[in-house]
Amino acid sequence: MVFRQLFDRETCTYTYLLADEETGEAVLIDPVREHVDRDSQTIEELGLTLKYTLDTHVHADHVTGAGLLRERHGNQSVLSARGGAPCADIAAKHGDRVEFGRYALDVRATPGHTNGCVTYVLADHTMAFTGDAMLIRGCGRADFQEGDARTLYRSIHEQVFTLPDDCAIYPGHDYKGRTSTTVAEEKAHNPRLGGGRSVETFVEIMDNLQLAPPKRLAESLPANKNCGLPIRGAVPGRPEGWESVVRGGEGVPEVDVRWAFANRGALRVVDVRERDEVAASPGVVAGAEVVPLGELDPAAADWDRYAPVLLVCRSGRRSGQAAARLEAMHFAHVASMRGGMLAWAEAGLPTER
Ligand code: FE
Repeated sequence: MVFRQLFDRETCTYTYLLADEETGEAVLIDPVREHVDRDSQTIEELGLTLKYTLDTHVHADHVTGAGLLRERHGNQSVLSARGGAPCADIAAKHGDRVEFGRYALDVRATPGHTNGCVTYVLADHTMAFTGDAMLIRGCGRADFQEGDARTLYRSIHEQVFTLPDDCAIYPGHDYKGRTSTTVAEEKAHNPRLGGGRSVETFVEIMDNLQLAPPKRLAESLPANKNCGLPIRGAVPGRPEGWESVVRGGEGVPEVDVRWAFANRGALRVVDVRERDEVAASPGVVAGAEVVPLGELDPAAADWDRYAPVLLVCRSGRRSGQAAARLEAMHFAHVASMRGGMLAWAEAGLPTER
């Protein structure tokens, strides 16, 4: 079998090329949009025919090359039926098999990092491509994109650790330069999931990671739901003036109070302070709705994901958390008002009761 492990330096993403050297049929697992030329060239130079691209999940940190490769090679794209990306040609389900020449990959559902995560397992169980469900001595985060630590624990124990001990694991990323591992190694040494750690210990570890949102989250999620192709038609592009939104230290998109004042009419303004706190304050930005941070997730569930949202609180701290939450819920354009209502008052801007 032809096997190549390809790498994206910017996001530490691995792309895998697998092919039958006799028939020339090839698959690419987790291609990255910026490397479509490189991957195409490799395929052509090796005399291969791309049959499928397979994404392990809807990525939040990079944009898939699936759409561009399909345009170029006429292949089909595969993504989990639970991935929420209707652009894929084949919506894969647990138990499905993807064949290329004399080889085949079996689809195992391994949710927990996202609902739609799958692991592709070579039919002879010598290799497994786990995406972000399991990483070398780690695992994908479970704190957004429908992530759930208990589900992830179950997925790994039931679908990955049940493979033969010498089955090679190829992850979706590695940030330390490692390239592969084995089931036995991870069972023994994975500091989160191995060594017989209980689900309770795992949940506690995952609850305390405190990770910043991925840098390319806002761009990646909507793009990947469209196979990495530009979104046309129904979905509006970046709102006017949105280039003023800059990411602060924690990766949170922010705007200053002057910009917020000038643009407030074109935004959904959400004040995430507590109601009694708002009542005791000089007031809110004109047109703002009050949705305390603790109520944001259920309230935002049916808001328009493409309408720009400005988040406001007292000092800018909670609104930053709120912005990260909405990005995790796939909102395309969110911004936190830097300095909050304190900065607003200091700038002498008007409030409304
Ligand atoms: Fe991921």
